[in-house]
Amino acid sequence: ALTIGIVGLPNVGKSTMFNALTKNNVLAANYPFATIEPNVGVVPLPDGRLEVLGKIFDSKQIVPATVSFVDIAGIVKGASEGEGLGNKFLANIREADAICQVIRAFDDDDVVHVDGSISPVRDKEIIETELILADLETVERALPRLDKEVKGKKTDKTVLDAALAAKDVLDAGNTLFSQRDSFDFTPIRELGLLTAKPFLYVFNVDEAQLTDTDLQASLQALVEPAEAIFLNAKLEMDLAELDEDDATELLESVGVTESGLDQLAHKGFHTLGLQTYLTAGPKETRAWTVPVGATAPQAAGVIHTDFQKGFIKAEVISYEDLVELGSVAEARLHGKARMEGKDYVMADGDVVEFRFNV
Ligand code: GDP
Repeated sequence: ALTIGIVGLPNVGKSTMFNALTKNNVLAANYPFATIEPNVGVVPLPDGRLEVLGKIFDSKQIVPATVSFVDIAGIVKGASEGEGLGNKFLANIREADAICQVIRAFDDDDVVHVDGSISPVRDKEIIETELILADLETVERALPRLDKEVKGKKTDKTVLDAALAAKDVLDAGNTLFSQRDSFDFTPIRELGLLTAKPFLYVFNVDEAQLTDTDLQASLQALVEPAEAIFLNAKLEMDLAELDEDDATELLESVGVTESGLDQLAHKGFHTLGLQTYLTAGPKETRAWTVPVGATAPQAAGVIHTDFQKGFIKAEVISYEDLVELGSVAEARLHGKARMEGKDYVMADGDVVEFRFNV
């Protein structure tokens, strides 16, 4: 499964947020999820469509898609040189598919800031500098080898060019992800560069800042074009302990409509380039995770590899059509159930039944 690594300076509220994440997970006790390791949280992706379909099909069970988070402790200044938990930190981050950076914006004299004052700009820079330095080392180590391989015609020149372009970006103090619109770094994917991973940002804000749109706009501008989530980690901790109605009430009282963790799950999913399609029946209504752009056979393969091998076709009804018409039979009658072949590209919210040979 794809995972998002949570990083941030000490005392920014990572553990508080992570505890809320895993508590959220425990609350979903009727779902087949568990915290696999102490630093891994598997959380359901909130999806209101599942409840609706579950009612239409009288499903016994509802199974949402999940997002996995890994708490990666230990980044400090100098981590890229092996200070503190440096090397372990870098190894953990290498395994993550996306990076979620938690940045402190809340002010609280009782909580010491490692650098003495609150500065989201500086905190973001400290963390990214460590990742950029680690990447520079990787690229500089690879360049002589790539150069030799290109001369010996063992490697395409585009690989060397991409490595040189990456070095320029990193030398200028930028992450590769932030420059992804102007460079194509896919030729050097094998280098596993940390800053080429998708980034998203969580700003841990005061309760009052949750509705401060000016502040949020300026912080969003700081991380453009990445996604930003504004949450109050302590509030998320409280929310995780409440039932749905009380949680909704608490959210309303602070002026927001969706919990920070739900936003994090949604935006994390999006940052990973994922979407869901749905299956529904009396046994279960379920969301399945596929990369954006996946074809029908690839989507079938997520359920079972045999479904992909023996794929014949998929009967597809859009969620909206199905809800409007109320049943598969009605959808068929109205020509809203489409038979799609192996080249069909899945859309988010497709309700699907696969036909396959076994
Ligand atoms: P970590 O080192 O990044 O994992 O940070 P922790 O989650 O351990 O939080 C450090 C301290 O900040 C703890 O005393 C938390 O209670 C406190 N803290 C966390 N989130 C918030 C917040 O949103 N507001 C305030 N005022 N304090 C917080």
